[in-house]
Amino acid sequence: MTARVLVVDDILANVKLLEARLAAEYFEVLTAYSGREALEVCARERVDVVLLDVMMPGMDGFECCRRIKSDPNTHHIPVIMVTALDQPSDKIQGLENGADDFLTKPVDDIALVTRVKNLARLKTLNDEMLMRASTSRQLGITDNEALDKALSGRSGRVLVIEDHPRSGVRLLEALAKVHDTFIEQDPNRALITLAEYDFDVAIISLSLARSDGLRLCSQLRSLERTRHLPIIILVEPGEEARLLRGLDMGVNDYLIRPIDKHELLARVRTQIKRKRHSDYLRNRLEETVEQAITDALTGLHNRRYMESHLETLVREALRSGRHLSMLVADIDYFKKVNDTYGHDAGDEVLREFASRLKRNTRGIDLACRLGGEEFVIIMPDTEIARAYQVGERLRATIAAEPFRISADVSIRVTTSVGIATLEHSDDTPQTVFKRADQALYAAKRSGRNRVNAAAA
Ligand code: GH3
Ligand code: MG
Ligand code: MG
Repeated sequence: MTARVLVVDDILANVKLLEARLAAEYFEVLTAYSGREALEVCARERVDVVLLDVMMPGMDGFECCRRIKSDPNTHHIPVIMVTALDQPSDKIQGLENGADDFLTKPVDDIALVTRVKNLARLKTLNDEMLMRASTSRQLGITDNEALDKALSGRSGRVLVIEDHPRSGVRLLEALAKVHDTFIEQDPNRALITLAEYDFDVAIISLSLARSDGLRLCSQLRSLERTRHLPIIILVEPGEEARLLRGLDMGVNDYLIRPIDKHELLARVRTQIKRKRHSDYLRNRLEETVEQAITDALTGLHNRRYMESHLETLVREALRSGRHLSMLVADIDYFKKVNDTYGHDAGDEVLREFASRLKRNTRGIDLACRLGGEEFVIIMPDTEIARAYQVGERLRATIAAEPFRISADVSIRVTTSVGIATLEHSDDTPQTVFKRADQALYAAKRSGRNRVNAAAA
């Protein structure tokens, strides 16, 4: 997806210039010639980043930014203020009105593309995150705390790698009010620290007296643990070649000395948000995957997972000529447990059953809850006689000790077990499963609390 950038300037030539440069980088460009028009475009169209001129007749850039940021419908659109004069007061006013970053006229090409890319990426992550959050809410999962943390660019952990004492102190002073900031002079130690602890962003000087900051950038990018860590580099004016090398390596953003405090804070905040957004999305993904493959009550694998995994195991066993056996266990008279002690006690029995079942399996075995009070163990590399022993041990483990539900309730539980094994070259997961199931029902019919293996 290409990002859509809205360029806002009252002077046609300025708009055309930025439009041409952005189009050359394959951004989609929308244009507006006044603050009012800009607000209309933002309300009507998908806009990923706004490039906003400060000085415009009528509504100026500050006011326009303030309105974008105070409308819940456009609140999340990143705004880059384009200031004519390199005046700190403009930046302060920009930040107060919610601007995300700055560019100074005449606009430098590298700065333009870097800034727009960063904020467009942030917007994409942000959109995705809010969509997932809304889906979760629809599913009844609320995690406002996680979402709030991800949305906030405050209180990050920042490591500054700088060996020039005065510059280091200035950076610390600027950052420490908003973020937990640490300073490290030696890149090798910095590498270890960053790999070991959780940081949100690394700020690396390229003017280290004793070592090469770019080398550290490249090391951070190649280490698994730090591959996604946001990096901002500090470069001297005129160091364009090194700056470009850094950006090529995957450095996220940069600042040119002398460092403007407001730009520093804005850029750090963007990178922290970006990191938190993607952390949020990654964690959600893990949770979703987890939910999709495990049974919530017992923590065993669920039926869906078992079915897809059994396909693979059967194919593999047939290919390699190894054994594969399967055990199906169903609790006896479980309905009576519910009827006598209540559904919650029934759930507790299921949990305890699952835990005894797990204790009876090896790491390579796959234990699942099929649903209700029916469980399966799939045993690779196991012949039927051995599987029978496992079944018998499980049966005995269940029957041996009553299930303790509470201080004064213990329930005697038994289970019936059916066993089957992969026998024919035209066996499928379904045929093996069916034989195990038939064996189980034969065990039920012959009196329950017993193990029965399917005839070969
Ligand atoms: P059998 O010995 O023939 O297996 O008899 P049964 O009573 O165990 O079997 P039946 O299939 O008649 O009843 C199973 C019961 O399991 C009915 C259902 O309400 C209950 N059940 C299914 N899922 C759950 C669950 O997640 N929690 C609880 N507490 N009960 C469940
Ligand atoms: Mg049952
Ligand atoms: Mg049943």
